Amino acid sequence: MLSSGASISMGVRKKIKIIGGGFAGVKCALTLRKKLKREEADIILYNSENYLVFQPLLAEVVGASISPEPVAVPLRQMLPGVYCRTEEITKIDIENNYVEYFDDRGEKGQKGYDHLVIACGSSVNLAQIPGMADHAFPLKTVGDAVALRYHVMQQMENAEISDDIYRRKRHLSFIIVGGGFSGVEVAGEINDLVRDTRKFYRNIPKEEIKVTLIHSRDQVLPEVTSKLRDFTRKKMEQAGINVVLNRRVSHVTPLGVGFEDGVTIEGCTIVCTVGNAPAPVIQKLDVHKERGRLITQPDMRVEGHDNVWAVGDCAIINNSFDNTPSPPTGQFAERQGRQTAQNIVRVIKGKETKPFYFRPLGQLCAIGGHNAVAEFLGLHISGFLAWFLWRSVYLFKLPSFSHQVKVGFDWAWEIFYSRDLAHPKADLTERIGKSHFQAGDFIFKEGDPSNNFYIIESGEVDVVRNTGKEDEKVLAILGPGDFFGEMALLDNRSRTSAIRARTDLEVTIMGKKVFEQISGTLKPFRDFLADAVKRRSGNMWQKLPAVYQILNDQPLSTFLRPVEIKLSPNDTFEDAVRTISGKELDFCCVIDDSNKLNGIVTRTDIFRAVEAAVTPMTKVSEFMNSSPIGVTENDTCTLVAATLRDHDLKWVPVVDNLDNLYMKGYISRDRMITFVLDKLHDHRGHSASS
Ligand SMILES: Cc1cc2nc3c(=O)[nH]c(=O)nc-3n(C[C@H](O)[C@H](O)[C@H](O)COP(=O)(O)OP(=O)(O)OC[C@H]3O[C@@H](n4cnc5c(N)ncnc54)[C@H](O)[C@@H]3O)c2cc1C
Repeated sequence: MLSSGASISMGVRKKIKIIGGGFAGVKCALTLRKKLKREEADIILYNSENYLVFQPLLAEVVGASISPEPVAVPLRQMLPGVYCRTEEITKIDIENNYVEYFDDRGEKGQKGYDHLVIACGSSVNLAQIPGMADHAFPLKTVGDAVALRYHVMQQMENAEISDDIYRRKRHLSFIIVGGGFSGVEVAGEINDLVRDTRKFYRNIPKEEIKVTLIHSRDQVLPEVTSKLRDFTRKKMEQAGINVVLNRRVSHVTPLGVGFEDGVTIEGCTIVCTVGNAPAPVIQKLDVHKERGRLITQPDMRVEGHDNVWAVGDCAIINNSFDNTPSPPTGQFAERQGRQTAQNIVRVIKGKETKPFYFRPLGQLCAIGGHNAVAEFLGLHISGFLAWFLWRSVYLFKLPSFSHQVKVGFDWAWEIFYSRDLAHPKADLTERIGKSHFQAGDFIFKEGDPSNNFYIIESGEVDVVRNTGKEDEKVLAILGPGDFFGEMALLDNRSRTSAIRARTDLEVTIMGKKVFEQISGTLKPFRDFLADAVKRRSGNMWQKLPAVYQILNDQPLSTFLRPVEIKLSPNDTFEDAVRTISGKELDFCCVIDDSNKLNGIVTRTDIFRAVEAAVTPMTKVSEFMNSSPIGVTENDTCTLVAATLRDHDLKWVPVVDNLDNLYMKGYISRDRMITFVLDKLHDHRGHSASS
């Protein structure tokens, strides 16, 4: 028997607050409104948007099988008698029974509650895989689905006008990461969309379309029986989908995805259906959690709090039907919402609560090509019949009759007519974005059109001429804080040199229009650019052919000096000051026990650390520059000289290579200049005497 806990006396109108208008929150609000009269309780539902997102049909929106509107079901029309507030709850004070939000003026507001139902689902976390957040599409909101659909259609248009087979294949390569329900559904929909609509394009051969589904386990759809999994895989492969199993994506770039072993799959469209994270408001909550989800008692109360309930994807709830944790599905979320409402009513009426109990009805998953797999009421069905069942179930599960009619109409339309190819752009305004590249990737190549301006956040790039040819030449190295791409944009011409990531790279990208706006209106930025253009456009070696000849004839080892004075990352601020002061060097390399360069400390870093009020015991690793510009033993003397000049450096560290960063020494600008001057002097002396 469960204790009724905070039994609240009748007679006072209760304030019941629900955070989240998804499957769980909506069902809870509807049930409460049915069971409690208006004078018994105020039911207030907070949701970030003014509609419920019917997530099971998002993949259909991507595939243009239905229009986006029917999957956004308006909360106000669905919940008469419930006070709906389109507001994001920013904090829950569980000890003092109130929630916090920002009102329409952006000011903080607070509202108390007698009962709180937390039903805020989960959010997407693409940050676990480098580059995923920058280059992949998530699928969680209506906006995600619409943006992805427009992107897919844009790739078809790009492929149509492309004469280059390599670029066309990239436009026509669609990669879906994650082989769970949503991954399988969206892979099937994208495959159907691109293959069904291909007939309207002249320049898209069937063989160039590639849809790839990547899954980390040995079979897709781990939730269904192995027979249905086999069926799913077979049908998807027959439909032309490349199913890649037992592989984990290790990084994502604008060119595609990569794996640990160096294998890559190129493609302009990457969809990520893995990587759930708790909603931000839950992350801040100091209660028991498991992998970010709230642990509840059997009756769905948050452990230790009698008037706080948690339901749906944000909670871990034991199902007393089979004593297993409930899976994060809409089916369970709805039942939990309803039974929580019943338990709240029991508490208000002084009765005992009941544990969550639900006999699952089954699983349904559409896999494309008018096929689905289903485990329904004990039956295992696959193929067209399962697909028909899938559509019927989801049509009737849509919580509003008008939306059922709209979806039914879209589906009927699709029987007689092709999918709609129009793709009005959702967002015409160019923005500033971020991008991740792996070492070796080209950010752009010679001859590419100039669309963007780039600022390096971390990592280094090579500026390269004659890429891939015998006389390929690295002209310069750029590092954190440097920028590139401005010359072609300002002159309105294509790229004259290529930019290749020398190390893993994070860049901020500014679209052409934003760049033009900022450089046109902001004088300091314009002057700064003009200065850089002047510096970069003059080829310094054309003016100094004799110097070029001298440096070009020398191996880099001529100038390499061993590092005699060094710091370890665990040394302190005090050690750094003692090491640098009184020495001629104005820098110190930070090298760990394996002789790897971790960073550098300069006098400027010491002054900055003083300003930041570090203590004498602060570790060097906390204030050093951990991404200094570096060169390798294989770089040429002319490249190193250009790097010293471009960055106004007095010296530069030399490492074995950029992967291992083993310290080899450093090159001093003054030493290089002295060497060149001596040689020039000798040369002139010779000429004079002869
Ligand atoms: C692409 C896709 C396909 C799916 N297909 C299926 C399927 O076929 N069958 C199935 O059973 N399940 C499916 N699911 C899973 C199912 O949709 C979820 O399990 C279900 O939506 C969870 O319901 P919920 O109410 O817990 O959360 P959600 O439906 O995610 O709703 C949570 C709501 O809370 C709001 N919110 C969050 N934080 C705050 C805050 N601080 N303040 C105010 N509001 C907030 C959010 O905006 C959101 O509207 C699918 C999911 C996806 C993404």
